[in-house]
Amino acid sequence: MGNIIVEILVRGLYNLFGLDSPYSATGYGPNWTKQRRKCLERDDYQCRICGKTETEIGRRPAVHHITPRREFAASEWHQMNALSNLVALCPSCHGTVEGKYQDTSPEEFVAKSRQNF
Ligand SMILES: [Zn+2]
Repeated sequence: MGNIIVEILVRGLYNLFGLDSPYSATGYGPNWTKQRRKCLERDDYQCRICGKTETEIGRRPAVHHITPRREFAASEWHQMNALSNLVALCPSCHGTVEGKYQDTSPEEFVAKSRQNF
């Protein structure tokens, strides 16, 4: 129990300073919290496909891995969580495009998603 509290505190401190956390037990990689925040900032906390804002969605958009996490080895978290593989999406769009348009850039991903709506 004490270890969990320490881990949460350490995660918070690393995140606060924008550093890669020493923990990656979630499978999201040690830089996930930082990269997730960078993606949301880049995408203005809006769904990149339909443009819904955080307020309209009612919570922060999801940060989607264009090429899914399962396609990466555990050691490849740097590529997995690269901003070029992340895009902010509302839950509705996220459900529609899950698993589609892998191996594309965020711009290509958004363009293809919009075309096929
Ligand atoms: Zn959307």
